[in-house]
This record gives sequence, C-alpha cells and structure tokens, in this order.
Amino acid sequence: MIERVVRQWWMALVMLLVAWVPSPAAASMGTPLDVCVVRAAPGMTAAALFAGPERFDCTSPQRAFGGGDFWVLSQPLPKVASHGPLTIRTGSVWQNRVMLHILFADGTIRQAGYTSRTTGERLMLGAMIAQTLPHHDAAAVRLLWHVEGAANIRGIVRQPMLATHGENADSEVSLAALYGAFGGMVLALVVYNLALWRALRQAFQPAYCLLLLCLLLYALSSSGALGQWYPGLDNNDRIRISGLALAGSATSVMFFARLFFEPRVFAGWLGPATTAGMIATMASATAFAVLAPWQIHVLDVFMMGSIAVLIVLVPIILFSAWRQRSNFLWMFAIAWGVPIAAAGMRITGAYGWTADNFWVDNSTLMAMAVEAIMSSIGIAYRIHLLAKERDEARVQEIAARLLADSDPLTGLLNRRSFLSQAIGREGPQTLLIADLDHFKAVNETIGHDGGDEVLRAFAKALRTVVPNSALVARIGGEEFAVIVDASIGLAASRVLDSLRGIRMPYDMAVTASIGTCTGPLAKETDWKALYRCADRALYEAKAAGRDRARDAGALSAAA
Ligand code: GH3
Ligand code: MG
Ligand code: MG
Repeated sequence: MIERVVRQWWMALVMLLVAWVPSPAAASMGTPLDVCVVRAAPGMTAAALFAGPERFDCTSPQRAFGGGDFWVLSQPLPKVASHGPLTIRTGSVWQNRVMLHILFADGTIRQAGYTSRTTGERLMLGAMIAQTLPHHDAAAVRLLWHVEGAANIRGIVRQPMLATHGENADSEVSLAALYGAFGGMVLALVVYNLALWRALRQAFQPAYCLLLLCLLLYALSSSGALGQWYPGLDNNDRIRISGLALAGSATSVMFFARLFFEPRVFAGWLGPATTAGMIATMASATAFAVLAPWQIHVLDVFMMGSIAVLIVLVPIILFSAWRQRSNFLWMFAIAWGVPIAAAGMRITGAYGWTADNFWVDNSTLMAMAVEAIMSSIGIAYRIHLLAKERDEARVQEIAARLLADSDPLTGLLNRRSFLSQAIGREGPQTLLIADLDHFKAVNETIGHDGGDEVLRAFAKALRTVVPNSALVARIGGEEFAVIVDASIGLAASRVLDSLRGIRMPYDMAVTASIGTCTGPLAKETDWKALYRCADRALYEAKAAGRDRARDAGALSAAA
C-alpha cells in the first residue's frame, strides 16, 4: 500500500518538476549578454576601453583568469522594447566592488556601482544582482564592468542579462512562489516531525529536523532572500553563510542516514568514512566562512571536494544497504536520487566541468523539496514498520500468555490459571470434579496416544456442555474441574449424559464419575474446603459403581 502511495507521490512530483522547469525559461526572464574580459592594469579608463574592444579576451572561460581586478565588456546591447527603465541582472559572486559604466548612443558614459556591503538592496531572488540603468535620452549601447576583488570561483560577471521591468517582476514572482512554497513546506515538515518525535522518540527524527533547518537556511541565503531581509548584510558574508548551510545540509544528510538505517549498513570502513567525510565537510566550510577571501580557491576546492566525497558515499551506502537487506533501502534511494543528481550537477558546475545554468542552481531547491517530502514519507514508512513490529510483539505476547495459561493437551485452563481465576469469585460457587473411569484400562487397551485422544474428546464435550461463564480446567491426569456461579447451576446428570453421547476413538465406551459441591470461593481456604467436599462426593460416586454423579450439597460460609 505505502509503496503505491510513494510511487504516486513520486510521479506527481516529477510531473510538477517537468511542468515547472521550461515554463518561465530563461527567454522570458531577460536577454542574455555575451561578455569579454581583460585583467585590470593601471591607467585603464572606461572611455579608452569602450574605444578599444579588441583588447578584451572573448574566448577564454572567465574562470581561467583566476582572482583579482578585471574589466568586463558586454557585446553591443540588443534593441529591447521597453517603456520603463532597463535593468542589468548578474548572478551574485564573491567580489568587493563593482562599477558599471554605460555607454549611450550619443557617446555619453555614465556610472552606477555597488560594493559587497551595498549589494543587499539590489539583490533579487535567485541571488541575482539587479542594477537599473540610469535614465538618459539616448539608448544604452554597451556596458563595461569594473570588478575589484573578484574571487572568480564561479565567474567574474556571471550570467549577465538585460531585462525589462516586467521580466524582472516575472522572475521575482515565480521565484518567490517557489521559495515560499519550499519554505512553508520545510517549516510544516519540521513542526510535524518534532511533534512525531515527542511520541516516537526515534533518534533519526531530530537529525531530520536539523537537515530541514539547514536546507531552509541554505534556501534563504542562496536565494538571496536573506540579503533582501537584511540589506545591511555584506554579500560576501551571505556567501559564507550559504557555504555553511550547504555543508550543514550535506552533513546532516549523512547524520540522518546513519541513524535511519540499521547499524549493520555502516559496519566496516563505511562508518568511519562517513564520519571523516562529515568532519571534513564541516571543517572546510567553517574554514571557508572564517578565512575567505584568504586562499579562497583552495578553501572552495576543499569544501566542494568534501561535499563531493559525501555524495560519492551515498551510492556506496545504498549498495551496503542493499547487501545488508535493509528495510529502508528503496525509500532512501528514491528520496535521495534527485537531490544527489542536482548536487552532483552543481559540484561539476563549481569545478567548471559543466556550464553554469540558472536551472541547475534552482533545481537544487526543487530537488531538496522532493527529498524533504520523500524522506518524510520514508519516516512514515519507518513508523509503519515500527507499528507492525509492535503489533507482532503484542500478538506473540498474547500467544505466550495463552500458552502459559492453558493445558497443552486439551486447550482447557491449566490448574494454576484455573485457581487464580476461580479464587476470589463473589457469591456461592458450584465446583464439579469429573474423573474418567478406569482410565488406566483405557490406556492399556488403546495405547497412551489413544488415551490422549480420549482426553481431548472429553475436554471438548465438557466445554460444550457447561455454560459460557464457567471456568473449565484439566487439573490432573484424567481429572477435570468446572466452576460456575451457584445461581446458574450445573446439572451433573446432564454433563454425564452428554459425555455418554460423544464418539470415542475405536468406539470405546468411556464413562466418568462426578462429584459436586457448592460453597463460597473468596479465598484459598475456601477452595481447599470446596475441593475436599467435591472430592468426597466423587469418591462416593466411584464407590457406588462409577458412571454417576454425587452432589455433596452446600457448604456454609463459615465452614
Ligand atoms: P478410576 O476409575 O478409579 O479413576 O480408575 P483409573 O484407572 O482412571 O484411576 P487411576 O488414577 O489409577 O489412573 C489414572 C490413569 O490415567 C493413570 C495414568 O497412566 C493415566 N493418565 C494420566 N495422565 C494421562 C495423560 O495425559 N494421557 C494418558 N493417555 N493417560 C494419562
Ligand atoms: Mg480415573
Ligand atoms: Mg484420577
């Protein structure tokens, strides 16, 4: 059942992803611009550089230049139909200061700039920096960025786009919907899992909440929302926080996996390896956050590298879970497939092996949303297994108790449980003792197994003939006892009649003798007196020729 639900969820999410990805695609968010780069040298001016575009390198990838100060020239701007002011959007990267020079058709050059400290007020969702072009009567024809203190980990001027007011608003609205949905979902999952944790006390639940909170922090910081809320936040500090949150997410994934899977999955070297990966990830992210921009490239490679190690460990963990026949394998595999693919793409992007892509960046968020939901279903599945275990334990406990309380041959109560239920009954009780006649001879004639068969048939008949409220037990080898409220009563002769009527193995004629007695049964001593009395009656029945009943009447409460 649960597997079907999961599959349906999964399908729905994939469809959502497919439906969502191409729709507000890059085209409607603005016009991408090609750029060329030259390393800054003393004496360079904007006017001279606009006049000499041949000095720029238009073929090397930006990352090939390393860190430092640069001039970046755009292609001639395309004509864009727009009523309002145009905006230049670039992806946020680590840098100290940017001055944008705008060349207008009439030859005028104007500037607009910002520093890492004042980036916040220009941040849009998707961590894009929006710079509105100053108003001028002539059209803007070309752009030139002067970037100082570029770390150039992921570019100098990243994914520049020329956008109209409407395109900016579209981008902002669709990303706000995306991040809003993600944030709301994560918060709901945190609350729901903390509430479940109170009831279930499973160690992986707080780890899962920690993971969700790291994802939320990562979404807030990497989306730029954090910069929007605190415009005073230095953009480079926001990147430090993003790194920490990403490392925290990756580490808490491992932490969660460790607690979620059975310990045997992490036996051998895999346990220490994940621990080492987690420590390396947190240590390198902390080093990046504290030390950057000092050795920023090395620190970034360490951080991304250790996160990559954790990602590589995931399929190994899945393989181990498969080999160890873990109950949670397929749940985990489905839940983590998408985010691992997305993270893998991001890492390859970070190393420059694949091209930067806006959707790859934001797919992380969708992937994490899928993951968060799937993990939550995984937890539900895990709880389902716990409930099943508990139910099975309960069934076993009931079975064990039944076994302890009953006579294995006949299924009637055994002597111990019969006494514990009989003593303490209120009001006068009638005790009936039935003993099979000449049972030794029965055994000698048809064998011990045949004798057992007779005992079972006798027990079944006895149970059928007495009232439902009666306690029926086998209290000795071929001796049975019945307790019933005196007000209901037991006709011993009826019992005998019905016993005579049962078909015995080999059609043997088996009879019994019965003694009955009525009296109080409040305490142990009452039982002794009642038994002695009924036993005397039984002895009389035997002495009188067997196959008959004797009633000793009623004992007084004082006796
Ligand atoms: P009486 O009419 O005087 O009661 O004669 P009896 O032979 O029934 O009396 P006795 O108490 O001497 O013998 C009881 C026999 O019941 C002896 C024993 O071998 C047999 N017996 C006791 N428990 C079992 C059992 O679980 N299975 C079988 N097949 N026989 C049993
Ligand atoms: Mg007997
Ligand atoms: Mg006997």
